[in-house]
Amino acid sequence: MIQVGINGYGTIGKRVADAVRQQPDMEVVGVAKTRPNFEARGAVEKGYDLYAAIEERKPRFAEAGIDLAGDVEELVAASDVVVDACPSGIGADNAAMYEEYDTPALLQGGEDAAVVDASFNARSNYDAVEGLALVRVVSCNTTGLSRLIAPLQEHYGIEKVRATLVRRGGDPAQSGRGPINDILPNPVGLPSHHGPDVNTIFPDLAIDTLGLKVPATLMHMHSINVQLEDPPASGEAIRDRLAGERRTFVIPEWLDLDGAGAIKEYAQDAGRPRADVWENCIWGESVTLEGDDLYLFQAIHQESDVVPENVDAIRAVLGETDAETSMARTDEAMGLDEGFGTATE
Ligand code: NAD
Repeated sequence: MIQVGINGYGTIGKRVADAVRQQPDMEVVGVAKTRPNFEARGAVEKGYDLYAAIEERKPRFAEAGIDLAGDVEELVAASDVVVDACPSGIGADNAAMYEEYDTPALLQGGEDAAVVDASFNARSNYDAVEGLALVRVVSCNTTGLSRLIAPLQEHYGIEKVRATLVRRGGDPAQSGRGPINDILPNPVGLPSHHGPDVNTIFPDLAIDTLGLKVPATLMHMHSINVQLEDPPASGEAIRDRLAGERRTFVIPEWLDLDGAGAIKEYAQDAGRPRADVWENCIWGESVTLEGDDLYLFQAIHQESDVVPENVDAIRAVLGETDAETSMARTDEAMGLDEGFGTATE
């Protein structure tokens, strides 16, 4: 069994912990927290061993009546791999600790690509990270773009990707973020950081990205144009190909999912944990070919699409299995294949 530690138990960390626990070949050693808040209580209720991320704050856990299993260093020492899901920048600070204990670590998309040995997306470059010490699972948007680009590049070749990313202002619990009533070009200049970030996975890809921020918390929305080198006869062929991919849900028209709100409602009705949507949600009707140009809209659930990717990255960094076997195992254990994304008839 692969022993996995989770350092940083917030939006991403708690989801990764649950997904790791569901895997037949993995065990959660424990999770590290800085303070005893509602998420610490949730971790205790789920039976995860809790480790203190900051030595001086240990008394606060005792005051809240929460038992600790040890310090974060002990968690790192006991783990085969650590998933670091700390806020942006802190993962880089933690790198020396992972090195000291010779434990490979997976950082998240908020970290600078220059800090790590390689960036990761399971569908695109699973084999590139075996044996590396520090790997970055790319951000929610870059994950969503990579999952789309990989099959298009393999089957049709790509001349250029042009993507406009309409980004949620913050996650539902991030009450301090905005905008509250505005639409912001973000950044105003080109490119947004997403294009260069996609190039950490596809170094030779021509890609331009523009970003906006809007007063929404549910999902991101991508407006995509891909100029193909060798397009098929129709957009339908591309639609079918994308529907056959893992982790891409091509939304059939009859489901009447007209936006991110309906998708989240659908996920909730389907009994998805935390109403998570792990797949790229691509509107089938939007998949259109005009000459060489492919157009489509996709929605990306920022809080959860990177979760199965983290699980695969654990196996990839240890050199366990191949990409397809890992992704199939991850998806089956998480229930990703069950109905939700396969209702395409
Ligand atoms: P978060 O703030 O929800 O969770 C981070 C957790 O780490 C919090 O519980 C915080 O208390 C804890 N923490 C802070 N300092 C710590 C330390 N020194 N040691 C251990 N724990 C510490 O953040 P998040 O949204 O889960 O983001 C984590 C990473 O994932 C970031 O790199 C982010 O860019 C990336 N990411 C976030 C999203 C998203 O939409 N939320 C999507 C993809 C990737």
